[in-house]
Amino acid sequence: MPIIEKNYWLETLAPSPASAFPLADLPGSIDVAVIGAGFCGLSAARTLAKRGVKVVVLEAETAGWGASSRNGGMVLTGMKLPVPTLIRRYGREIVRKMYAASIDSIACVEQIIRNENIDCDFSRCGHLEVACKQSHFDAYSDSAALIKREFDHELRIIPKSELRSEIGSDIYFGGMVDETSAGLNPARYVAGLAAAARRAGAVLYQHTKVTFVEKEGSRAGRKFRVNTSRGNLTARELIVASGAYTTAATPAVRKKIIPIGSYIIATEPLPADLACELSPCNRMISDSKHFLFYYRLTPDNRMLFGGRAAFFPETEDTIRRSAEILRRGMVGVFPQLHDARIQYVWGGTLDFTWDVMPHAGKIDDMYYAAGFAGHGVAAATWFGLKLAGLICGDPNDIPFAGIDFSNAPIGLRSGHTWALPLAGAWYRLLDLIT
Ligand SMILES: Cc1cc2nc3c(=O)[nH]c(=O)nc-3n(C[C@H](O)[C@H](O)[C@H](O)COP(=O)(O)OP(=O)(O)OC[C@H]3O[C@@H](n4cnc5c(N)ncnc54)[C@H](O)[C@@H]3O)c2cc1C
Repeated sequence: MPIIEKNYWLETLAPSPASAFPLADLPGSIDVAVIGAGFCGLSAARTLAKRGVKVVVLEAETAGWGASSRNGGMVLTGMKLPVPTLIRRYGREIVRKMYAASIDSIACVEQIIRNENIDCDFSRCGHLEVACKQSHFDAYSDSAALIKREFDHELRIIPKSELRSEIGSDIYFGGMVDETSAGLNPARYVAGLAAAARRAGAVLYQHTKVTFVEKEGSRAGRKFRVNTSRGNLTARELIVASGAYTTAATPAVRKKIIPIGSYIIATEPLPADLACELSPCNRMISDSKHFLFYYRLTPDNRMLFGGRAAFFPETEDTIRRSAEILRRGMVGVFPQLHDARIQYVWGGTLDFTWDVMPHAGKIDDMYYAAGFAGHGVAAATWFGLKLAGLICGDPNDIPFAGIDFSNAPIGLRSGHTWALPLAGAWYRLLDLIT
């Protein structure tokens, strides 16, 4: 069977009813307009609507079209940066709150799935990080001890001699398991969130691209005039939840975002005994490199294998080349998959920031949240809920809200990414020498 350039997760979706997305004109005015129907925007819209706020979600493509339906479905604790780096940068107190937020964000996803009855294969299957070098493995004990001491969160170290109980590969130097992390089917989760937001009273407009935003009125009576490809509306508040796909319509947010491509392949369904050999505990797995591979089984026993296979500029050939690179990487980890056919390949864009941290707050009076990098399944959901809370008058208890947020350097930021290949080369070098 040939490789299909298509997102495997989308194949598992039931078609959504036409009534879910009105073709009607936009309302003239609204309490809150949300730009972007991914985890963040939909979670915000669901919460706002449940709290009695009139809210619309404006989506340039279709609900979930962005990173939210394209990702690995790993629902992870912690943040992208290692804990010692975080503590050095921000201090113990605030990092404790950040770590607690990351644990809370998984509980938040789990609760939404349960309350809204979303059929998306959510499972607390745990995450396994595998060490690519002896030095990486040696650092695990200190890291686990620090996380236990500071956050009372347990991680389990797996020495190389026991690694076969966790993964059917002999190339790694050991591993570290976090039982709190989870996995899900992201396309079904985001479709479920969209349905939940709608049920709560939010209105979702697909194929409605926001082209320009301007502030209107005096300070006290300030409103946003939101121009879209399907007409205009005014909104009392605006949430920018457009992630890595943020456009020039909101330039102040766009300047902060570094868009990084990531690609995924999925094999044909594997025999049950082979799938069990490759991932006996059915974990979400990633390795310890900067240029990392992440992988997992799907519920129908495909190996889904992802990585930052290519940097910009993307060409027509990027997807095919990515599939080849990822297949080589996958067979390097699992020689057992040498003859397994690759059936799907797709790509998406991650939203990084210059300090590799998530951020939320207000820019130019607009609420925003961004910078979820590879932790957005849980984080984007949680930040969306928190932004909605702020609009409803909740106290600002987002530990990420007070940290500095500089623009991304020119050459790396959205719309001007010519220096990204250099950044890629730098991280490859780091992987060689550290
Ligand atoms: C390949 C890949 C693998 C990943 N794997 C994982 C993983 O395993 N675990 C994890 O936690 N995270 C992972 N991530 C990251 C995670 O998917 C994202 O952080 C998360 O989905 C971001 O959600 P969001 O709602 O902020 O943005 P998105 O889901 O990207 O949604 C933004 C939406 O805004 C819309 N939009 C943009 N501009 C406009 C405009 N002007 N007008 C109207 N609409 C607009 C876009 O069309 C898009 O649909 C991965 C990402 C990728 C790409």
